[in-house]
Amino acid sequence: MRLRNVTGSREVIASSRFVVHEPFEQRGKWNEVFGSSNPIQIEIGMGKGQFMMQLAAQNPEINYIGIEKYSTVLLRAVQKMEVQEITNLRLIRMDAEEICEVFGKGEVSKIYLNFSDPWPKDRHAKRRLPSRQFLARYDEILADDGRIEFKTDNQALFDFALGELEPAGWKLEAVTRDLHHDEKMRIGNIMTEYEQKFSAMGNPIYKYCIYR
Ligand code: SAM
Repeated sequence: MRLRNVTGSREVIASSRFVVHEPFEQRGKWNEVFGSSNPIQIEIGMGKGQFMMQLAAQNPEINYIGIEKYSTVLLRAVQKMEVQEITNLRLIRMDAEEICEVFGKGEVSKIYLNFSDPWPKDRHAKRRLPSRQFLARYDEILADDGRIEFKTDNQALFDFALGELEPAGWKLEAVTRDLHHDEKMRIGNIMTEYEQKFSAMGNPIYKYCIYR
């Protein structure tokens, strides 16, 4: 979803008070950024931020951090935050490969992965955000009772993600292959931009919640 030709996106992000510009310096100290010891939940590959913004607005007792690799995409979330300021949400532009340098051991209570890029070629499997390589990183930063929630409309990516759980030492807490028609799991569901787009096309949405 990389948006091209967005002039000045880096400059707008650099001057935004909602973006944490030196995230590596906050490792182990994220409570100080928010000025509270509330639990921290993060979305990796946040895109334009709709999901994080709604979730944060609904749950003021939780602190949220949205992570996005590309400034041209992050810019959209920054622009929305300028209109609707949400005090318990911060944004970071970074590659999730460096996540362990940004969060300390057990510092995060939940990770959301929504409509992660599928990287269809086998040789790129380790770039997939629900891969065993990323699960090992999440294991470092998640609290002992932490959870990961993953949603996608991509069946191949979902099947791959399920196959990564056992070798990486994770267990399924809940799973559905049709989230929007699942009596239990659809309760409180917040749609992402991609979820709206693909469910409108008739695609079922897959979701798991995992723990270790
Ligand atoms: N989560 C949003 C949604 O559901 O609407 C966006 C989904 S979009 C398909 C995937 C997003 O993940 C893109 O914005 C992409 O730039 C971001 N992304 C992919 N790999 C990433 C990585 N390694 N670190 C951070 N962001 C990443």
